[in-house]
Amino acid sequence: MVSKELLEILRCPNCVREKDGLLNLHRDAWLVCQDCGRKYPIVDEIPVMLIDEGDKWAATSVEDLPVPPPMK
Ligand SMILES: [Zn+2]
Repeated sequence: MVSKELLEILRCPNCVREKDGLLNLHRDAWLVCQDCGRKYPIVDEIPVMLIDEGDKWAATSVEDLPVPPPMK
């Protein structure tokens, strides 16, 4: 589990400068940006907050995200 405290401070790196970039936790495995729809995987309990990584999943609907996320 990713700690609640960490989740509360994490923001989408793409959006945080101009918007809230708030993230919604999906099945303890993904963080979904409510502004741009990028989806950041949580791998080994570490959120991978890379814009490139979020880009890869931006077009995938939340229901179709693999759980657990694929390792690189
Ligand atoms: Zn975003």
